[in-house]
Amino acid sequence: MESRSIYLSLALIFTLSMISNAQQIEGLLYSDGNPVSLSLDKGKITKVFPLKKDVKISKTYIAPGLIDIQINGYVGIDFSGPDLTVAGVKKATKALWKAGVTSYYPTVITSDIERIKTNFAILAKATEDPEIGPSIPGFHLEGPYISPIAGFRGAHLEKYIKAPDWAEFQKLQKAANGGIKLITLAPELEGAIPFIRKLVESGVTVSLGHHNGSAEEVALAVEAGAKLSTHLGNGCANEINRHNNPLWPQLSNDALTISIIADGFHLTREEVRTFYKTKGADKTILVSDALDLAGLPPGEYTRGERTLLLTTNVVKLPKENVLAGAASPISKCVGKIMEYTECSLKEAIQMASTNPAEFFALKDLGAIEPGKRADIILFTMEDNEMVIERTYVKGHLSFIRK
Ligand SMILES: [Zn+2]
Repeated sequence: MESRSIYLSLALIFTLSMISNAQQIEGLLYSDGNPVSLSLDKGKITKVFPLKKDVKISKTYIAPGLIDIQINGYVGIDFSGPDLTVAGVKKATKALWKAGVTSYYPTVITSDIERIKTNFAILAKATEDPEIGPSIPGFHLEGPYISPIAGFRGAHLEKYIKAPDWAEFQKLQKAANGGIKLITLAPELEGAIPFIRKLVESGVTVSLGHHNGSAEEVALAVEAGAKLSTHLGNGCANEINRHNNPLWPQLSNDALTISIIADGFHLTREEVRTFYKTKGADKTILVSDALDLAGLPPGEYTRGERTLLLTTNVVKLPKENVLAGAASPISKCVGKIMEYTECSLKEAIQMASTNPAEFFALKDLGAIEPGKRADIILFTMEDNEMVIERTYVKGHLSFIRK
């Protein structure tokens, strides 16, 4: 009888451990480099405890998963394209896990309004998937309410650019099932300021981008509730007035956090250093701005009405010779900003995970602390490049490097 009850108890413990899926992870904590052990259970971090400094652990860091608030697509899946499907969103999400991105805001750019609506409906459907849904906390609408002027509009198609339209936006938001959490717009457009007020009231974060706003227009936008500048230094004409241009008012306004594409191509070392020195690690968010071509072999690709040139690191419009977007995931920017600014790994991860989590009130993400969701990456740093070894999403091992 006794041995039978022991057997039953053991079976129960085994079953419970299977259900709870408890596990341990060891590595060097990204913020101070000290060895730690994490306990994960039921999708959350339950314990973080230090290990003795002489414990032998390979040079693998542990950090919260990366959060990318501006990403146009990945591995051939274009979030603004005509062929978007839920299966495609699933494919892109899983590929992003391999790159250490555990949460992201699929970014839909300027296009025919019906297309934007359709794609937001598809993205909303994708978030219902229990496997990938937790990795998509919201969507980013970049355009179509941006500057139509060449240079400022960047790679956005002029024919679809328009003035802000609240009724139209509400239709997009309805199609997105309320999922649009971030919008990039130009503050100088007719009706932009009251539009910003309505967006902010409805809970959408407003970011200024692809604009040629004056100091006064930027100030009015901030007063109306704009909080962010989209990929500062890009979406800007090559030749601007040295006194009156959109950069100074955004850099000098403490109410604006900035996002930057620090991939080594979209901004020079000096721009990244200057932006970083002005805003600091607390008010800088790294974004990839990756296009769907990211993760594919280099070459010429046709996308709708345009030809794009993918090099190993960047995507260009060959005819106009302008950048169309990036070809690297956000992990590339983590290493690059460390190289350019000599900031610490702690600060680089702050800009690629903690800051976006705090900015969008994703309270259970962006940190390695008990109670947080177990979205965790294990990685090494090799020549200022992150090499992702393992990715956990909600405590599930979602990627392991072979
Ligand atoms: Zn842009």
